[in-house]
Amino acid sequence: MKKHNFNAGPSILPREVIEKTAQAILDFNGSGLSLMEISHRAKDFQPVVDEAVALFKELLNIPEGYSVLFLGGGASLEFCMVPYNFLEKKAAYLNTGTWAKKAMKEAKGFGEVVEVASSADSGYTFIPKGYEVPADVDYFHITTNNTIYGTELHADPQVEVPMVADMSSDIFSRPVDVSKYICIYGGAQKNLAPAGVTFVIVKNDAVGKVSRYIPTMLNYQTHIEKGSMFNTPPVVPIYAALQTLRWLKAQGGVEEMQRRAKQRADMLYAEIDRNKLFRGTVTAHEDRSYMNICFVMADEYKDLEADFLKFATEKGMVGIKGHRSVGGFRASCYNAMPVESVQALIDCMQEFEKNH
Ligand SMILES: *Cc1c(COP(=O)(O)O)cnc(C)c1O
Repeated sequence: MKKHNFNAGPSILPREVIEKTAQAILDFNGSGLSLMEISHRAKDFQPVVDEAVALFKELLNIPEGYSVLFLGGGASLEFCMVPYNFLEKKAAYLNTGTWAKKAMKEAKGFGEVVEVASSADSGYTFIPKGYEVPADVDYFHITTNNTIYGTELHADPQVEVPMVADMSSDIFSRPVDVSKYICIYGGAQKNLAPAGVTFVIVKNDAVGKVSRYIPTMLNYQTHIEKGSMFNTPPVVPIYAALQTLRWLKAQGGVEEMQRRAKQRADMLYAEIDRNKLFRGTVTAHEDRSYMNICFVMADEYKDLEADFLKFATEKGMVGIKGHRSVGGFRASCYNAMPVESVQALIDCMQEFEKNH
């Protein structure tokens, strides 16, 4: 039976990315060696990093003066590296969910943290608006897509201070005005590669301004200077990321990804809103994520939750159980998600409705 992979992360990747990476694991570039057993400094590997960096810049239209880094540690380590490198006195954070809160917690160890707005009291069911960002902060931090709660900022906020963004779960799903940011980071395992590599886009002249000592490995300057080769970078996930970047370009880039994401999301939200058994959890419809589509059973059908999960699982749906802090269901529809899989889930919801 065909499986439809709605996993939240690690998650779906284009089939050809997996095949090409598998091939390189068996034989890298016809060298007779596996990608897993070559030096990251081998002359054949440097072009992999160089092309991945170049494609990042091309696909996101990154201006001059920025570096693209491939590091370890996940987005979670960036929660600490960002304030370590950029927070001298004060930073502003928008509290839109679990990940935003974790980022804020780390920053508090480095300076004053202003929570400009929060939707915590209402279960993170919308993105706060109309907040003010103090003009004297070192940066304003946002989480562009809230993977757990299913809300998303569909455009770059308009503020007067430099921004930092966690784009773990919506990178390459829409155009971004990178010039508004001093740093954009994310774990690769949602939209780009298998787990193990973190991407960081950093503005070169924004680093080196804080007065504290920064440990070598946590200093962006180290990795900018060494082109992500200060120590051994995660070779296999970087190779897979390159295959995804090539795939993205061949498909038509971020504009095409945005078109597909909207198409998938519109289809699924329309069914959630129509089907009497279900309801969406995000109250502000304009904030509904295109990437992580969250829904629960309607109140009068609450006791059917386990039945629907079983029914959908038997029809090949994978990973639709909601995060434990939200419950219900979450269909993660990252860039590689074919519209056929979304239709298969909709068919499931309609057949289940007929049975009840
Ligand atoms: C998954 C996720 C993280 C955590 O990523 P790790 O790489 O596991 O540290 C952080 N932020 C967001 C928005 C995420 O979706």
